[in-house]
Amino acid sequence: SPTIVWLRDDLRVADNPALTAAVERGRDVVVVYVLDDESPEVRPIGAASRWWLHHSLTALATELDVLGASLTLRRGPAEKVVMGLVDETGGDAVHWNRRYGKAREVDARLKSALKDRDIEAVSHAANLLFEPWTVKTGSGGPYGVFTPFWKSCLARDEPRAPLDAPTSIPGRRVDGDSLDDWGLLPTTPDWAGGMRDEWTPGSVGAHERLEQLVKVRLADYHRRDEPGLDATSQLSPHLRFGEVSPFEVWHRLRDGLSGLAAKNHAKFLSEIGWREFSYHLLFHHPDLATVNYRREFDAYPWNDPATAGLERWQKGRTGIPIVDAGMRQLWHIGWMHNRVRMITASFLTKNLQIDWRAGEEWFWDTLVDADEASNAASWQWVAGSGADAAPYFRVFNPVLQAQKFDPRNEYVAKWVPDEGTDDYPAPMVDLKESRQAALDGYEAVKAAK
Ligand code: FAD
Repeated sequence: SPTIVWLRDDLRVADNPALTAAVERGRDVVVVYVLDDESPEVRPIGAASRWWLHHSLTALATELDVLGASLTLRRGPAEKVVMGLVDETGGDAVHWNRRYGKAREVDARLKSALKDRDIEAVSHAANLLFEPWTVKTGSGGPYGVFTPFWKSCLARDEPRAPLDAPTSIPGRRVDGDSLDDWGLLPTTPDWAGGMRDEWTPGSVGAHERLEQLVKVRLADYHRRDEPGLDATSQLSPHLRFGEVSPFEVWHRLRDGLSGLAAKNHAKFLSEIGWREFSYHLLFHHPDLATVNYRREFDAYPWNDPATAGLERWQKGRTGIPIVDAGMRQLWHIGWMHNRVRMITASFLTKNLQIDWRAGEEWFWDTLVDADEASNAASWQWVAGSGADAAPYFRVFNPVLQAQKFDPRNEYVAKWVPDEGTDDYPAPMVDLKESRQAALDGYEAVKAAK
């Protein structure tokens, strides 16, 4: 009987503990990916992520093929699909790498159903350096503040070394869907041209970005706040889909750095730390994408998104150049620079007083790195409703932000070439008045506290 490996957010053959454990069992291996838009605990992924997924699965199938295995694609509620595959193949073990949001309820149900039938069910730690429940405050609870969280992570044993890819996999071919039939790619209009130019989904592209980080970008990382520079790694979609593991990133960055790159190392790792922290929050607050972490924010008097200008924000037609530049970058390449994510999110939640959940949903649909932990945690952080959030009274002034971080106007000029023409809209709100309105809104939050 074969061993089944169920892949999810871990689309790689190297440092894939579930795959390695399955190969070590010495039986045939069935590798399956399940597109699950049906389980209520699983949030269907957005359009940009679907584009990415299509290409990432294509790349993965090629890598598996070289090693002797094939990738079986199935669609449906994962628990039922994986159980069905066990019946069909007579599999006596299922291995997978853990996920940390609500979907883990699906995994827990499957695990107990498998165990009831004496089928081995093993989940592995693969996608986080520190399992969320193992990081605890002095009193044994979860962290709500980043700095002590990361400090306590760094005080622990160093994360394990990454595993090599199996040299070969005794794969068993099992029929499945054709990827094209899943319809993950846009049809008409084809909005993915900018994404195709920017990205190479899959492990090869991920490792290219990692090498570029080590050899080039890390030396500029102290200028990571300047959106006009390529000073950040752009590893986020690769990490999101698990095409490279955080263990591979950690160990690749440990040795052989010198000069500025070595100096910037800790700062870069602390950003990986924010990813870990976001998952820590999600693990302990599975509703992070929908429920205010600070419940007093339930009292905030949000505007109606339809009349307050959500669509102008989405389309990059707010009349505030740095905001529009960010929103257009997002639309074109499915990614936005972190500093500009903060500026656009602040503009939406404060100057337009639109509920952060509307912004979170838009990012969820349009980002290639849309991540259930980082997206939700970051939106709440900007809105002020989150853990370790920026104080609510700190409202970014987008004009000053642009002067400071895009001083030569390179970023804005690239994405908003129409600035200054008759076509470009006037600012949709007065920055000073809208700032004051946001601050007035917080009175309700303070009263609810
Ligand atoms: P680098 O600076 O090179 O950082 C390396 C890696 O660390 C990133 O790839 C990412 O995995 C992680 N990281 C960096 N910053 C953060 C952060 N603040 N929080 C969590 N992880 C971080 N990141 C996502 O991966 N997915 C999202 O859906 C997402 N949504 C966001 C929404 C808002 C409103 C904001 C303000 C931030 C969001 N971020 C999200 C965090 C951050 O903007 C991106 O991770 C970063 O811009 C990715 O670019 P990079 O890989 O070049 O980052």
